[in-house]
Amino acid sequence: GDGSQQKIDYVFKVVLIGDSAVGKSQILSRFARNEFSLDSKATIGVEFQTRTMLIQHKSVKAQIWDTAGQERYRAVTSAYYRGAVGAMLVYDITRRQSFDHIPRWLEELRGHADKNIVIMLIGNKTDLENQRAVPTEDAKEFAEKEGLFFLETSALNATNVETAFLTVLTEIFNIVN
Ligand code: GDP
Ligand code: MG
Repeated sequence: GDGSQQKIDYVFKVVLIGDSAVGKSQILSRFARNEFSLDSKATIGVEFQTRTMLIQHKSVKAQIWDTAGQERYRAVTSAYYRGAVGAMLVYDITRRQSFDHIPRWLEELRGHADKNIVIMLIGNKTDLENQRAVPTEDAKEFAEKEGLFFLETSALNATNVETAFLTVLTEIFNIVN
């Protein structure tokens, strides 16, 4: 069938956070619909998108939440974080400032979310390697220090997007099982 009558074993809420324009909405679009747009407008309206995947023979519905232009410091409300079991903390490898703001986002996340939340640090836009402003090593070191998963992605050419979500969802799955 088309999967519409598929039995769902788990629903996992995952939130996307990080500065404006780092590529959160395009990462989500790539993961949920395998689509990408270079002229994506600031996110409006849509709260979340879903995709159902099989993990160890169970069907897991990932419910991925995207901020709707609330990326200013402390503008994301606690309702956004409520019930989240995973988080994608995104910066743009070509914009140093977006990486420098990661500790703030992490602090806000830890202030609102469950203490067992699984967190993936994502350096997006690796297709723009010639404009890189954040060395991989800096992010890797930060992630290790903070106990986060870490991957670099490109929503444009789809590098590591699937792996990033699968890693987080599998880790959550292992925690609840
Ligand atoms: P958001 O504000 O974090 O949701 O960022 P968007 O997803 O709206 O993306 C902001 C801009 O960056 C848009 O012009 C996207 O097309 C572009 N963008 C997003 N991901 C990538 C990527 O992996 N590579 C490149 N080159 N551009 C990207
Ligand atoms: Mg957006």
